[in-house]
Amino acid sequence: MDFPWKIEWNSETCIRCGSCVATCTFGAIKPQLQRKSQTLSTGHLPNPVESSQIIMAIKQVNDPKSYCRGCSMCEKVCPTNSIRPIENEHNRFPLVARHGASPIKRGGRGHGMPHRVLDYIKVGRISQMTDPSLDAARHTFDILTPLGRGLPADELPLKIENGKLVANGWTPPIRWIYPVLIGDMSVGALSWRMWEALALAVAYLNEECGMPVRMSSGEGGMPSRLLKSEYLKYFIIQIASGHFGWNRIIKAMPEMVTDPAAILIKIGQGAKPGDGGLLPAEKVAPHIQAIRGVPKADLMSPPNHQGLYSIEESVQKMFLSMNAAFKFRVPVAIKVAASSTSVAVFNNLVRDPYHIVGGFFLDGIQGGTGAAHEVNLDHSGHPILSKLRDCYLAAVEQGKQGQIPLFVGGGFGDSGDLAADAFKAICLGANGVFSAKIWLQLAGCVGNEKGRCNACNTGHCPVGICTQDPRLVARLDVDAVAQNIVDYFLALDQELKKLMAPIGNSTLPVGRSDALVAMDKEIGERLNVAYAC
Ligand code: SF4
Ligand code: SF4
Repeated sequence: MDFPWKIEWNSETCIRCGSCVATCTFGAIKPQLQRKSQTLSTGHLPNPVESSQIIMAIKQVNDPKSYCRGCSMCEKVCPTNSIRPIENEHNRFPLVARHGASPIKRGGRGHGMPHRVLDYIKVGRISQMTDPSLDAARHTFDILTPLGRGLPADELPLKIENGKLVANGWTPPIRWIYPVLIGDMSVGALSWRMWEALALAVAYLNEECGMPVRMSSGEGGMPSRLLKSEYLKYFIIQIASGHFGWNRIIKAMPEMVTDPAAILIKIGQGAKPGDGGLLPAEKVAPHIQAIRGVPKADLMSPPNHQGLYSIEESVQKMFLSMNAAFKFRVPVAIKVAASSTSVAVFNNLVRDPYHIVGGFFLDGIQGGTGAAHEVNLDHSGHPILSKLRDCYLAAVEQGKQGQIPLFVGGGFGDSGDLAADAFKAICLGANGVFSAKIWLQLAGCVGNEKGRCNACNTGHCPVGICTQDPRLVARLDVDAVAQNIVDYFLALDQELKKLMAPIGNSTLPVGRSDALVAMDKEIGERLNVAYAC
C-alpha cells in the first residue's frame, strides 16, 4: 500500500457493526467477504485437516481517489477499538497521487516550516523594582487597538473658530477593536453551521462580554440577512480578485441599517502568495451559488485584481472606489501576502497623501485554511515576523508608526497559545493579529500540521466544518462550537493581561520589543530583539 495511512483492523474483536465504514467520508474502507482457511492436526498423530470459513472483513480501498486521510473517525466510532489508522513510514503517495496528470491539492496545513520562530522569543523584561508590575486581576487595562488611518496632530483637519476648536474637513474613520481578529474564512470554504457558530460567538462577545471582536467575511460575500442586520458592524467585508458575493453586497447597501466594521481588499494570502482563492465545485452548494451568484463549478479567483498595472494606481483605484461606496465612513484596509516586497508596498501606503488607507494586513506562510495546490503550500511563501518587523521599523524611521495599523496573520495560535503569540507580535510592532486555524481546532477539526486529515478541499470534512454536504454539516453542534470560541476568547483576554501586567503596560505594548528576548542569536539580530542565553 503506497498511501500515507494504513488501516489496522482486528478481526477477532470486530463485531461487524459497520460503524467505521458508515462514518468514513472518504470511502477509504469497505466491507469485503474473505475466506479464512486453516489446516490443523487435532490428534496425537499428524493428520492435517483443512477447514475454512467466510468472514466479513474491513479492507482499505486501494484507489488514490479514496485514500485514507488518517482522520481517525473510524477509530472514534468503533465500539470495540478494533480499527485505527497508522502512519505509513513507507509512504509513496506523492509518486502515485499525480496519476491522471492532476496536481495534488489539499487543505491549508503543513508548509514544511522547520520551526516556529515565536517559540524562540520570550517576554524577558519584567519590571519589578525598575518600574512596577501591575496586578493583572485588579488593574484596569485598555486592550483596544485602532483599525483605520490615524493622523498626526499637525495633520488633523481642525481650525479655531470663535476661540473654539472645530473640524475643518474629513477625518479618516477609525474603529477601536479587540486586537485578536477572526481571520478570513468564507461562507463556502466553511459550512454554514461553522460560519454561523463563528458569527454567533462574535455577536455574544460584543453584546454580552463587551469585547469588540471583529470577524472577516473572507472572499465570497455574506448572507443577505446578516448584511441587512445591525450585526453587520461586527464584520469586516472582504473584496478579493474574484469579486464573489459583491453583487449581493451592493444590492444590500440601500437596506443596510449600519456600516460594516471595515472593508478589506485582499490582494494576496500567505499560504499561497501569488495565487487566487480556490473553492472546489464539490463545495459550491445551492446556497453558495446564490450568495456568490455563480453556477456549480470550480471557483478560482484570479491571482491579481484586474487592472493591476502598478501598486500605486490599482491600490488607489480600489481604495477610492471602496471608500466612495461607503461614503468615506468605513475604514478600508489591504491584505497582502508576506513577501520580499511587502515593505515596498507598505511604504507606498504610508506615504499615501490622501489618508485613505485604513490598515495593512500582512499574511505569513503558515496561514491558510482553504484549498490550495500542495506545491504552493509547501514551497512558496514568506514567514511573517521578519516582514512585520521590517514594516514597523520602516514606519518608525519615517516617524509614521501607528498611522497605518499593522495586522499580521499566519500560524498565530498554532501551538494553542494565541495570547502569547499575539502579545509577542504586538511587541514587535503589530497593532493586532488575525487567526483562523485555531477556531477550526476549537470546533473539533481533526487535522494537524503532520498530515492528518487536511482534506478541507474535498467537500468531505468528517466533522462538518468545511463541507456543504448536509449529512456531514449535521455533525457540527453550532451552540457548542460558539461556546468553545467564546470561552477561548475570555481566557485569552485574561492571558493577555497576564503578559501586559509584568511589563507594566496597561495599554497594548505596540512596538515594545524591549520587553522581549530572543533565545536564538540570529533570530534576535534579524528581529532587533536582545539575545539572551
Ligand atoms: S482514518 Fe478516516 S479516512 Fe481513514 S479509514 Fe478511518 S475514517 Fe476513513
Ligand atoms: S477535520 Fe475538516 S476542517 Fe479539519 S482538516 Fe479535516 S477536512 Fe479540514
